[in-house]
Amino acid sequence: MSSNFDTGAACAERLDASDPLAAFREFFSIPQGTIYLDGNSLGLLSRQAEESLKRVTKEWREQGIGGWLGAGSPWFTLAETLGEKAAALVGADPDEVVCAGATTVNLHALLASFYTPRGGRTRILADSLNFPSDIYALQGQLALRGLAPEEHLALVSPPASPGDSGLLDEDSIIHSMTREVAVALLPSVLYRSGQLLDMATLTAEAHRRGILIGFDCSHSAGVVPHQFDRWAVDFAFWCGYKYLNGGPGSTAFLYVNRRHFERRPLLAGWFGSDKQAQFKMRLDFEPAAGAGRWQISSPPILSMAPLEGALAVTREAGITRIREKSLLLTDYLIFLADRLLPEAETGIRVATPREHSRRGGHVALAGDERMWRVYQALKARGVVADFRPPGILRLAPVPLYNSFGEVRDTLVLLREILDSREYEAFPDEKSAVT
Ligand SMILES: *Cc1c(COP(=O)(O)O)cnc(C)c1O
Repeated sequence: MSSNFDTGAACAERLDASDPLAAFREFFSIPQGTIYLDGNSLGLLSRQAEESLKRVTKEWREQGIGGWLGAGSPWFTLAETLGEKAAALVGADPDEVVCAGATTVNLHALLASFYTPRGGRTRILADSLNFPSDIYALQGQLALRGLAPEEHLALVSPPASPGDSGLLDEDSIIHSMTREVAVALLPSVLYRSGQLLDMATLTAEAHRRGILIGFDCSHSAGVVPHQFDRWAVDFAFWCGYKYLNGGPGSTAFLYVNRRHFERRPLLAGWFGSDKQAQFKMRLDFEPAAGAGRWQISSPPILSMAPLEGALAVTREAGITRIREKSLLLTDYLIFLADRLLPEAETGIRVATPREHSRRGGHVALAGDERMWRVYQALKARGVVADFRPPGILRLAPVPLYNSFGEVRDTLVLLREILDSREYEAFPDEKSAVT
């Protein structure tokens, strides 16, 4: 594809003119005066998401408690309804996905059922590059069972070669799938480097060794299609506020493969009940038949409401077309980074894999100690990206609302900032939220 690119503005215009998803940008509120490339941290508000949120507040105003059954999407079953709508994005049956809880909470809820240390199989396998919250949850799950994390949490690290420090090697993960491992938890896409792991192979290899495997798909849901059922993934979970555009802190999702529907939710709560039984208020828990049994509490309807509109936009665009545009956007970004920010001149390199099969939705540019200030200079010029230590600048061109022109403008700006050294005007101290 890169053979069709050049660095000129006309190339970006041509790519935008032939973009089948270009019209979707109109649905979104882009913060004024910005190029927003941070949809992998917080997706933007669409008109549809705002409408579904407004509709729910109106239903609350007009119906009060009647909204549980009388709302346009009855609140009593909204978790299941949204789960059904998200299921196709990850290759699942409608009853295998439910909208519930929060990312880390769902990891706890799932591990309570899926981590059953027995005999010599006591370990949890994860990786040292995963989002820290997941690791804290795993450490907590071990401690809850009286097992020392230092001994029972096996973390795969990247290979020693410095150039690949943000990437994991599937073979070394598989090599770590030893007889002591009960369950493996891995990210679909690594939040820093943007590497996409080969979930099909990892799942097959885990199962050959008697290991259950789950994935945190926060960095892929809504931008990379998955085939959980076909790959026979055991469980998964992801947030609703990144590429799914559900709003700040919006409700998350979880997936359980139907062959595990018999497992008991051990962080149990009444919203995991069979719907017919729930209001009988009996003291013996009768769990729902599907993934819904892993819900705990009353669903946070106002944090779920925007997801209805947001998922409608994603579904209308189609996950296949979203992925096609995402790859074209990141191909173009990488092409421009190579040409406009050559490593020999700038010390900046593309830390994201170049193969499509190994790339998620964002591109990480790795630089030296200047990178934090470069990030601030970029922000001062209206580009919202994000920074992850040590020196990673993440750029997420989101297929639903970013253009090829914005990608080019950003790379041109980056070059200007480096040439003019305008980053030197910015402080070295980090702020609380980056
Ligand atoms: C964003 C993200 C989270 C966030 O967890 P919350 O519980 O929603 O705060 C967790 N894991 C990964 C991999 C993420 O990308």
